[in-house]
Amino acid sequence: MSGKINLLVLLGAPGSGKGTVAQHLAERYDICYFSTGNLLRNEVKEKTDLGRKVEAILEAGNLVGDDVMNEMVKTNIEKVAASGKVILLDGYPRTKNQAEVLDKVAAADSIRVIELDVDADEVVARISKRRVCAKCGATYGPMDKAEVCSCGGELIKRTDDEESVVRNRLNTYKEKTLPVSAYYSDRIIKICGKGTPEEVARKVNDCLRGLGIEKRR
Ligand code: AMP
Repeated sequence: MSGKINLLVLLGAPGSGKGTVAQHLAERYDICYFSTGNLLRNEVKEKTDLGRKVEAILEAGNLVGDDVMNEMVKTNIEKVAASGKVILLDGYPRTKNQAEVLDKVAAADSIRVIELDVDADEVVARISKRRVCAKCGATYGPMDKAEVCSCGGELIKRTDDEESVVRNRLNTYKEKTLPVSAYYSDRIIKICGKGTPEEVARKVNDCLRGLGIEKRR
């Protein structure tokens, strides 16, 4: 497999730092980034038909159906495909079916996966302290002392970041998403997600350099 990389998937348990890493990359690389969690939270906030259907699922920490997610991601990929930019996916695929569908939407050998590895106690500790912007969806990790988002939005706790819901999300991750990691065994790069956001970002930068993806000039 030596084709041009068009699509990067960020994989990792809830709280492993995917959102923080994705924001770091979106600021420094000329890439199109989208997070399926942010897209869904936005639907809920806007009270769209989809938002009403998925609200309780998100609150319980369960997964939205594959058909809905596959359609959502396909539509978003098609919107930006003509730009020729690398696409970064955060939060998708989360099931083996989603990974199989993604291989049909984009050429399998143009996809690489970066997995952030962090142990369960650490993710629960991180999630209990993280906040997100109610306006733009940016994630603020436990070390961040900001009182408002740089966009001016209010920083709030996600409703699905309560400890009992986090435990359910971790179980769902083990049951449904770990098989995705195995599915990608020939395209995956595993990174230890422990350490400060800067330390993790450095490792991810090295990884992108290795894939031939250069920083924005
Ligand atoms: P995240 O922000 O990635 O943690 O996603 C928040 C919630 O959105 C998840 O707990 C799921 O309920 C839902 N969700 C996000 N992405 C997906 C996906 N690919 N498949 C199913 N549900 C998803």
